[in-house]
Amino acid sequence: MFRTSHIELSLSALKRNIKFMKKHLRPDVVFSSVVKGNAYGHGIRNFVPMAEKAGIRHFSVYSAGEAYLAHQVHTANSHIMIMGALDNAEVGWAIENDISFYVFGTRRLETAIQDARRIGKKARIHLELETGLNRMGLKAEALEHAVELIKANHEHLEIEGFSTHYAGAESVANYVRVRNQIETYREMVVWLNKQGLEAKLHHTASSAAVLNYPETVYDMARVGIAQYGYWPTQETEMLYWRERQGGTMKLPPNPLRRVIKWVSRVMNIKRLGRGEFVGYGNSFLTTRPSVIAAVPVGYWHGFSRALSNYGRVLIHGKRAPVVGAVNMNMMMVDVTDCNGVEEGDEVVILGKQKKAEITVGSFADLSGMLNYETLVRLPSEIPRIEVK
Ligand SMILES: *Cc1c(COP(=O)(O)O)cnc(C)c1O
Repeated sequence: MFRTSHIELSLSALKRNIKFMKKHLRPDVVFSSVVKGNAYGHGIRNFVPMAEKAGIRHFSVYSAGEAYLAHQVHTANSHIMIMGALDNAEVGWAIENDISFYVFGTRRLETAIQDARRIGKKARIHLELETGLNRMGLKAEALEHAVELIKANHEHLEIEGFSTHYAGAESVANYVRVRNQIETYREMVVWLNKQGLEAKLHHTASSAAVLNYPETVYDMARVGIAQYGYWPTQETEMLYWRERQGGTMKLPPNPLRRVIKWVSRVMNIKRLGRGEFVGYGNSFLTTRPSVIAAVPVGYWHGFSRALSNYGRVLIHGKRAPVVGAVNMNMMMVDVTDCNGVEEGDEVVILGKQKKAEITVGSFADLSGMLNYETLVRLPSEIPRIEVK
């Protein structure tokens, strides 16, 4: 066995999610597929070409390293945008390869101007405006200084975008803060225009904003989690349907489909009598004659130890509980009720098997993590395979 588990990525699910999200965007709005965090754990190398098959031509990454990976594997004429980390030494590389990047400080802007002059090609920049997230954006003084620099060096710069990011559009608890940000963004753009600066693309919306604050969608939307088949939070979904269905809270079927299915196989079967402990320690004692299967996936593979005695996997379309502690490289599951399980049978750790499904949500709740966190923790070493 060269691999103990693999991850299947469904192209049809991806196409469906993108179609659903596009329903909320005017036809001329650019759909930027956010593939930071190894494409939310899906695997950037596999995911980028798949998204291209689904018609995507714009990718947002966090760092130059991710841009490098996306740039290596993209097969269509796609554009890559860096929203975060980029060393001054990498700015020239980005310019040469037509990769656009955020500017949120003077240092990077000065480097961009110098490198663009040296290379003889314009740097494609996005001004990240500080509207209230208070993380990275350009605020008052820094912005004024940036504007002066840009105006003095406009022949070396292409103002690709104005952007901002909201402090949690996925929760109503942040409603007032997000509303203020929307207002601040508008005011800042008016001010920039007065200074004579215009951008090709205005972009502020993430998945939650597209779904619940449609007015935040300007020329481009940066969609992450929803394209992979997850609502940013349960609250986002509730709010979404409430807006559309008023008081009737009967939820329609989920329009999103999970792209990921994480699969392993039964490595070993053990038959135990009543009253025997399983695995390290004594956290699980059989209370009936039991059939226990070993599955070669453990916390090294991203299956949290917090799921010891709590987690579930699917075997023969049935839920089989994890028994005892999750080990580094394997876990034990109780398959007594799964009928005739044999070595080599498929085990689904995340995703569907027959009519049953293990969602990242349930997995995340049990291990105390967000969807986002659970997904990105899937180690990049697990092979990814594209399926229909
Ligand atoms: C991660 C990220 C997004 C995408 O957010 P989702 O909630 O996954 O859609 C958009 N913009 C920025 C700046 C981000 O960091």
